[in-house]
Amino acid sequence: MLWVIDMSEWRGGISVFIEQDNGELERASLEVLTRAGELGRKFNEEVLGILLGHEVNNLVRESSRYGADKLVIVDHPDLRHYNSDAYTEVMAYLINKYRPRYLLLPATRNSRDLAGRLAVRFRTCLSAHVIMVDIDGKDGKLVTAVPGFGGNIVATVICTGGGKPEMATVSPGTYEARSSDKEATVIMESVPEDLIRRRKIELVEKKTSPMPDLSRAEKVVVAGGLGTGGGDLELIKEFANLIGAAVGVTRPLADMGIMPRDYQIGTTGVSLRAKTVFVFGASGAPHFVYGIRDCGTIVAVNTDREAPIFENCDYCAVADLFDVLKALIRELRGGGK
Ligand SMILES: Cc1cc2nc3c(=O)[nH]c(=O)nc-3n(C[C@H](O)[C@H](O)[C@H](O)COP(=O)(O)OP(=O)(O)OC[C@H]3O[C@@H](n4cnc5c(N)ncnc54)[C@H](O)[C@@H]3O)c2cc1C
Repeated sequence: MLWVIDMSEWRGGISVFIEQDNGELERASLEVLTRAGELGRKFNEEVLGILLGHEVNNLVRESSRYGADKLVIVDHPDLRHYNSDAYTEVMAYLINKYRPRYLLLPATRNSRDLAGRLAVRFRTCLSAHVIMVDIDGKDGKLVTAVPGFGGNIVATVICTGGGKPEMATVSPGTYEARSSDKEATVIMESVPEDLIRRRKIELVEKKTSPMPDLSRAEKVVVAGGLGTGGGDLELIKEFANLIGAAVGVTRPLADMGIMPRDYQIGTTGVSLRAKTVFVFGASGAPHFVYGIRDCGTIVAVNTDREAPIFENCDYCAVADLFDVLKALIRELRGGGK
């Protein structure tokens, strides 16, 4: 299909894609919505939340309390799960209809896929995995911050090309999701059926991890780095299991496929807000440390007393992580010495 996009009239406003899957909200969307609400109030921009799914009534009330002025819902059986084609078509249709100046999405796996497709479709700019999103008070351009070069610099990214909507995917955990008493006005949208039916991808099987969701971990996270002998996470998982914690890893372990990307901590992974995080065998590179900066108490175990992680933690143990984990597990199992 040939898309003809009229670039002349963009109404303004901030739209936020609210991600769900099978009736379960992606919490990072609410964080983005909260930030959009702050920006909307500051710059007098209307905030539009967009929720696609099926039988999402229970999600409507929840997501309507996070800063949106209006909530656009498209309910269709084929939107129950994310699928690239249908979601792209429906979102493109809604963007053409509502013409927002800004479009924000959480930097989750599905929303990242969607964001890239929409950016190409609208020939516009997309700032990916940002750790700050703002609006320039003078010219109204979207301003974002993206870490680069191993975290040694944070680049400010501004959409200068004039493409619309100005887009960004926001790193999970960057902002806190805060609800309020104000509820958004709900708009039930119907979109042409063929937009959804044109999809080519069918969900055959959805695999969910038996491990606790890292992005939702509020209490304790146990993190492992390359010091685990390059990804021997057996003791880390056992310890986490015993204390009811979620497990996370540094990027090299996610790159090696030892844990799925959703369990990577850091600027290009998840930013944690847990009360306590144990860090075993991670050097403390800036990209990793960024992901634990909002945690309450940080406990680090490393054989290298000069490791940078020790400058960023509350409790340090210069020790072999396997010895420490074995002792902790023994203690927790009531084995004593
Ligand atoms: C654009 C970009 C984005 C990035 N994003 C991320 C990100 O989101 N998250 C992330 O984690 N990284 C990210 N990185 C990579 C990051 O810069 C580091 O390379 C990475 O975090 C290092 O991982 P590590 O600490 O596991 O490994 P290493 O740096 O190799 O550290 C291993 C540590 O284990 C210790 N150790 C070894 N054996 C033991 C033992 N037996 N007991 C205890 N300690 C031991 C060592 O002393 C060492 O300090 C990014 C890099 C780039 C360029």
